[in-house]
Parts: sequence; C-alpha cells; structure tokens
Amino acid sequence: NNALSEFLRKTPQSKEFSTEAKQVMPGGVTANIKAFDPYPIIMDQGAGAYLYDIDGNKYIDYLLSYGALMLGHGPPAVVNAIQSQVEDDGTFLFGTPHRLETEMGKKIRQHYPSMERIRYTNSGTEATLLAIRMAHAYTGKHKIAKFEGHYHGGYDQVLLSVNPSVDNAGPVDEPTSVIESKGVDPYHQEHTIVLPFNNLDATAEILRKKKDDIAAVILEPIQSGFIPADHFFMEGLRTITEELGILLIFDEVKTGFRIGLGGAQAVYGISPDLTTLGKVIGGGFPVGIVGGKQDVLMTSAPNSNSDVFDSSQSKTSQAKDVLFHSGTYNGHPTILAAGLATINVLEQEIDHVLTTTRQLKKGISELFAKHGISMQTIGLGSIFNVVITDKEKIWNHRELQQANFSMRKQLDFLLLNEGIYTKPLNRYSLATVHGDKEVQDTLAAYDKALSKLT
Ligand code: PLP
Repeated sequence: NNALSEFLRKTPQSKEFSTEAKQVMPGGVTANIKAFDPYPIIMDQGAGAYLYDIDGNKYIDYLLSYGALMLGHGPPAVVNAIQSQVEDDGTFLFGTPHRLETEMGKKIRQHYPSMERIRYTNSGTEATLLAIRMAHAYTGKHKIAKFEGHYHGGYDQVLLSVNPSVDNAGPVDEPTSVIESKGVDPYHQEHTIVLPFNNLDATAEILRKKKDDIAAVILEPIQSGFIPADHFFMEGLRTITEELGILLIFDEVKTGFRIGLGGAQAVYGISPDLTTLGKVIGGGFPVGIVGGKQDVLMTSAPNSNSDVFDSSQSKTSQAKDVLFHSGTYNGHPTILAAGLATINVLEQEIDHVLTTTRQLKKGISELFAKHGISMQTIGLGSIFNVVITDKEKIWNHRELQQANFSMRKQLDFLLLNEGIYTKPLNRYSLATVHGDKEVQDTLAAYDKALSKLT
C-alpha cells in the first residue's frame, strides 16, 4: 500500500492522461498487454537505456518494447541509417523490389544458415502465420502442433494454450487445446494440437499418433524467451519430426539476435526447417522474416505462368498452385535500413550485452540470497526473468505457474518507484546501452525494494 501511494504521488499526469485515453481506446490502451493497474505510465521520451514519463520520472528500461530495442532508445547508428536511406532513395517505399531486401537477406543468412531463402512480413505475427501456411502448402497436411505456454502471435490458429490456467489445461502429458481469447473460432481447437514442453516421450507419442495430420510443430526454442528447452529434448524433437515428415518451425521472434547473433538455433546446434524472426531485426520498427529450407520457401515462388497474378482480380488459375504471400509494406526500405544498421552494431557489441546481462543476473541473485528469498534468474543470452521459487529448475508453463507471482508483483511495483522499468512479471531484456552504471543503479534499487518486501 505504501508502494501504491508512492506510485500515485509520482504519476498524477499519467493518471489524468489515462482517463482521457479511455475516451479514445477501449481500456485506454491499444494492446491489452499495455494495460496496468491502477493505470499505465504514459511515457514521453526515450534516450539510450532510459525512459522518461510525462510526469518527468526517469526509468532504466528493461522492457525495451518487449525486447525489440537491442540498441536502446534513439541509437545514432539507426537514426543516421534511416535519414540517409530516405535522402538517398528519395522515397519511403518503392512498391517494387529494391537492393536492401537482398542485402538484408544475405546478412540474415550469414547468421542463420538454415534460412536458405527468406520472405519479409510486417510483424512477428505475420511471420508465424506465413510459416504455418508454407508448412501446410509443403506437406499437404491440415493441422499444426504447438507447445503449451508458447506464444506465436495474436491470430486464431495459435491463440491456444498460451497461458492456460492449470485447472482447465488437461493432463500434463496430453494438454487440452485451450482457447485464449473471446472470438477465437473453436474450430482451431481441433486443428491445433497442444504438446507438453520439455517432455520428449509424451510429445513423441502425440506426434506419432497424429503424424498424418500434422504439417508442422512450431515452438519457441526458449519458452517466453526465458525457459530454455532441454538439449536432449530439442535433439529428440528434431529427430522425431524429421522421421515423421513433420516440419519443425523455430519461432525466434524473441530469441533472434538476442540469445546470441545466431539465435537459439546456434546455441542448440539444431537446424529447423523454418525460422521466424521479428523484433530486434526491425531496429524498433515493425518487421518479420520467414526463412528456411529452399524447397519449403519455394512454395511461395511465383511460377512463370502466374507472375502476373493480381490479388485484387485473381485472374490466373495457375496462381492457385502458388502459396499466396503479399503485403504493401513487405520489405519496407526504411525499416530494412534500420534493421541492417542494428545488426551491424550488434556484430560489434553483442559480447558487451551478454556480459552486462550476466553481471546483472549475478547481482540480483546475490541480493535475493542476502534477503533470504529463494529465487532463480532464468534465461540465456540477453534475456532473463526473475522467478521467485523454491524449485531447482523450471521446465515449462505448469511449473512456472507455481512460482510466487504475488511477491514478484509487489517487487515490480517497488522497483518501478525506484526507477526500474519492467512490465510486472515480465522478463528483462538488455541492450548495448546498459552498462556498469545501470547495473549498479539497478542493484541498489533491488536492495532497497527487497528490504521493503512484506
Ligand atoms: N512470436 C513470438 C515468440 C513472440 O514473442 C511474438 C511477440 O511477442 C510474436 C511471435 C508476435 O510478434 P509481433 O508482436 O511482432 O506480431
């Protein structure tokens, strides 16, 4: 309660503005995840590792737009790249192929050799949507399988069992497909099979039973960006999907360039059939990429008879042999310039981010130990989460549900008042702009917050 009154005292303008926002948008937000009790903090400016709200409070930002900003706010390399790109080309958008599409594609392939061919989309959501369509087109099968607790975007086919309550999630080794949103067509419960993460035997059994229907298994190799797949599980999953003629899709929208330049697939040494990327590779702008085995990607290649296909008129019958993929903004030049500039910086500075993350994790763990609270910092590379738990290891969604969320929520509030910004219960993402000062200031805030926990 003290934390709440401190929050209210510090953020009167956010409160006032949120009331106004509610007159414009349902709940005052334009993505449900941005809602916050009692009201969201309205940010005004960003600079490097910092965010400033409309009341003038300063925060070290560990949300980084859900991991998208790996160079922090307003990085000069990206600002310059965007400016010169627009000036050089004299346009924002060609509506034709252009050089950057191929240049960026080669850069991606350099770090992700499994992505032999790529296609651009406008978001991570669109990328997984396209990857799944490619899997259907390639295999001729009509169902997919996903893991309980894994998020792949906000559309019906995958908005199942992302965060199911344990009461209605079904047996541990054969989870029920649980609808996550009003409005999702129950048809998809039949067509999206849910698998138990990090449980190879049970996963293999379900896949074997339904192999004739399942086009692809899609997964976050690191669940929610912080619960890693076990190596043995991952190798087994690769083997069994190959054996059963099921494509394996790594959704690396969170982990791409964040776990290391080569993402989770480099860490695990596993080559998926398809990969989706997003977030970091847009340098702060909306983007997605689907890439993978050449023959799978070629399902989308226009053949010579259908290259005059016009989606608005659907003229050519041959076009139906080709997977439909289009988008006014796909491969947007300004965004690709921002993305390429981001990757160029990361090639030089990724080690710094990984080292800083390790220091922060270690410092936080030590402080919890000092205050006598059992916990774990879980995650790889530049992402981790602070999980208050007695468990030695957390393997999946159900085990995570047993963590002490109410204490973590209280802690997040106290940290917010100390100028540390994460969305409550969210993971921490780091950027090149976090350094010793930010780590030390964060640890000081943690020490203070932990001593106030009740
Ligand atoms: N896949 C994963 C693993 C994600 O983390 C996200 C977003 O958080 C998405 C897909 C959807 O991406 P976007 O928000 O760009 O649509």
